[in-house]
Amino acid sequence: MSKSMYDAVVVGSGPNGLAAAIVMQQAGLSVLLLEGKNELGGGLRTAELTLPGFRHDICSAIHPLATASPYFQTLPLAQYGLEYITPPVAAAHPFDDGTAAAAVHSLVDTARRLGPDAEAYRSLLAPLIDSWPGIANDVLAPLHFPKHPLDMARFGLPALLPATALARRFRGEKAKGLLAGMAAHAIQPLSNLTTSAVGLVLLIAAHRGGWPLPKGGSQAIADALVAHFRALGGTIETGTFVRSLAQLPPAKAVLFDVTPTQLLQIAGHSLSSIYQWQLRRYRYGMGVFKVDWALAAPIPFTAPECAQAGTVHLGGTLAEIAAGERAAAQGQHPDKPFVLLAQQSLFDATRAPAGQHTAWAYCHVPNGSRVNRTDAIECQVERFAPGFRERIIGRHTFDTAQMESYNPNYVGGDINGGLLDINQLFTRPALRASPYRTSQRGLYLCSSATPPGGGVHGMCGYHAAKRALRDVFRLPASPLFIE
Ligand SMILES: Cc1cc2nc3c(=O)[nH]c(=O)nc-3n(C[C@H](O)[C@H](O)[C@H](O)COP(=O)(O)OP(=O)(O)OC[C@H]3O[C@@H](n4cnc5c(N)ncnc54)[C@H](O)[C@@H]3O)c2cc1C
Repeated sequence: MSKSMYDAVVVGSGPNGLAAAIVMQQAGLSVLLLEGKNELGGGLRTAELTLPGFRHDICSAIHPLATASPYFQTLPLAQYGLEYITPPVAAAHPFDDGTAAAAVHSLVDTARRLGPDAEAYRSLLAPLIDSWPGIANDVLAPLHFPKHPLDMARFGLPALLPATALARRFRGEKAKGLLAGMAAHAIQPLSNLTTSAVGLVLLIAAHRGGWPLPKGGSQAIADALVAHFRALGGTIETGTFVRSLAQLPPAKAVLFDVTPTQLLQIAGHSLSSIYQWQLRRYRYGMGVFKVDWALAAPIPFTAPECAQAGTVHLGGTLAEIAAGERAAAQGQHPDKPFVLLAQQSLFDATRAPAGQHTAWAYCHVPNGSRVNRTDAIECQVERFAPGFRERIIGRHTFDTAQMESYNPNYVGGDINGGLLDINQLFTRPALRASPYRTSQRGLYLCSSATPPGGGVHGMCGYHAAKRALRDVFRLPASPLFIE
């Protein structure tokens, strides 16, 4: 490892590490970005997991949060080849009768397909879609007094509710199921407070800009961020897994794109005992079991909306999805798990050889589970797409332990960097004036274990870096929140 002196070192090159490194470099500092693996990008990597010519997103696949990110929007990533493709249907939600709900760009068209709930759906989403630009800066940030209190109240009141409670606005199974599928991205029982927040953010994103996927795979986002960082003068070293502070070159600030568990291992001795105690109490959520397929032909979904959708939510009714998520949170493996599926190659020909396809799917499982869920996931796909299994020509799976060994940030298979329930929502990773500061001056956390949490948006890294710039480098009052 380089032993030169840097102003700042960032450990970990996920979207948050990359965002933090770019913010610091933009401020004119000298920044070293260290990555444990040989490839950069963290949750933004793409590889031939199954057969030659089939390119699979190893972790993240669909990027409404990246395109909605107030910080990423300020970066010239298109100049470095990043091109988003937006499928006509953001997410389809098929039912056993062969029909489907579909979140499309038009709020009116989405609502119309929800039959008796058309007006209830429209009146819930319309004001939130309009006020999202103001809400985004408040939601994608650490806890603070909102800059747009009225807009935030309009969002916060329904967002605080459990998804099962918000769904009572609706009469029909289509609207309830659609909301349940969105809220299940919270990776918690749908009866938990605030599960509606995740569902609403994803629906708002569907109606504002759609749910895009990067041409060539999620790696393209990392490649563009890396190219921009390098163009600004940043330095990168890969293949350097950091196990202790002693490994690091001298620097005034170190930002860790890792979870509290890893921070304790790397820097525990330098942290105050109260802060160590807080980090040890940090809780992780459910894990995931993931399958990637190489397919001889597209997935033969019965409902036509699914063929237009980048993402398909497989779980049927609200009652079934809620029961499945509750069971997994309680340590069980339900027969019919809720499955999140993406079919990137339908819209991006670079993902598979001509005429052939890829698909990506996962379900939630108890944290640390070693149970193989391939059959349960494939049964759910087959249920809504009879004949699916005959099209499989290659398969790759990840259980929670394989996920964690691939990327130690996925503790027990938790892809969100920690549980985002009401108890941790405002205290991630520990109850402190700034969630990014550790107890040791100059050491910061910048991963998805800090606000605003999981997903590819870079806002954890952005806010952590801004904090470090103010604390350590006394850089002038550049606003903590982007206007
Ligand atoms: C299966 C799956 C599906 C997902 N789907 C989506 C999706 O569709 N859309 C979305 O927005 N999000 C999705 N996510 C979540 C998203 O990928 C994460 O929330 C995001 O990547 C977190 O970013 P991060 O920078 O905090 O950490 P990470 O992306 O996890 O990056 C951390 C980096 O730090 C490195 N590192 C860790 N420890 C060390 C160390 N000690 N020394 C050196 N390097 C180290 C790791 O190798 C890694 O490169 C998904 C995640 C998974 C796993």
